[in-house]
Amino acid sequence: MIQGIVVRESGVELEQFDESFLGEGDVVVDVAYSDLNYKDALAVTGRPGVVRTTPLIAGIDLVGTVAESDDPRWSVGDWIVLNGAGLSETRNGGYSTRARIDGKLAVALPDGLSPEAVASLGTAGYTAALSVMRIVMEGVNPGDGPVLVTGATGGVGSIATMLLAAAGFEVAASTGRLERFGDYLTSLGASQLVPRAELEGAGKPLQKAQYAAVVDSVGGEVLANAIARTLPNGTVTACGLAGSHKLPSSVMPFILRGVTLAGIDSVWAPLEDRADAWRLLAKGVDTTQLELMTSRIALDEVIAAGQQLLDGERHGRTLVTLS
Ligand code: NAP
Repeated sequence: MIQGIVVRESGVELEQFDESFLGEGDVVVDVAYSDLNYKDALAVTGRPGVVRTTPLIAGIDLVGTVAESDDPRWSVGDWIVLNGAGLSETRNGGYSTRARIDGKLAVALPDGLSPEAVASLGTAGYTAALSVMRIVMEGVNPGDGPVLVTGATGGVGSIATMLLAAAGFEVAASTGRLERFGDYLTSLGASQLVPRAELEGAGKPLQKAQYAAVVDSVGGEVLANAIARTLPNGTVTACGLAGSHKLPSSVMPFILRGVTLAGIDSVWAPLEDRADAWRLLAKGVDTTQLELMTSRIALDEVIAAGQQLLDGERHGRTLVTLS
């Protein structure tokens, strides 16, 4: 029997089921690892906004080996990673010992990263990489000024801090948990620590410009104030709403400072961008640091860990082992 975390109208539970429950797809995967992201936490605690059809297996990421394949790109035994692509939204996800997936957006594991490391990075790491790639693509260079990372102790924020520092950027890490995690952020490569409170509250649309770029996963006033502090022609990437889905900003930074607001969508990113992001992670992530910031849990611990994540009781990354 297959074991997985199933979201139903009536609740979320670890269940046993057979292959017929897996649904459609051209590749069957023996899942070895998944991980815990903010979206996973919402799904496994029964919050709305992620799972759009029930019953559905949760888990937005999976790493495993191909067991059967009708996709010419994949052969039995290949290691693959699949992030997003509708998993845990409209398709059965990675919190299952076996999965049937659409192989199109799956990526081979990059050279230099183990299956465990890839899963530990998960969607958060891959989204951090997409954000950093976008900043570089928009022409921001390390010499242009510091890059602000908001929600820095979280998954996206931690990995973005690490990647930016590895690429030679000066990183200003903003967190609401400075007392507890200041040293952690410095160890990831942050050279400035910014208390989240400095970015909260309604601020003026144009403030002292100090950041060449921003990686934001928080939204709301934090994002608005970050935009207002971005240097002329800088780039602000927005991927998340851990604080708020609102954006109480104005057009001023865009029309008077030429600031670019760049949206990052990891779920449906094209295959080439996924592969590039994983290559960047293989190059820029210190795997020893990654291990230190990663806690491991089993499938039957995921629901409780999801609640802890929403309660602000977890930091860094959480690896879920399935085999
Ligand atoms: P996470 O590990 O929970 O990190 C979120 C961080 O945001 C927290 O560690 C905290 O950092 C900060 N935060 C939490 N609650 C907050 C609040 N009320 N106000 C201000 N800051 C708050 O989550 P994650 O996996 O990194 O994901 C972060 C966000 O990005 C989520 O909204 C997620 O859905 C989104 N996301 C989007 C994509 C995409 O494709 N667009 C992909 C991945 C993630 P500090 O304590 O350090 O302040």
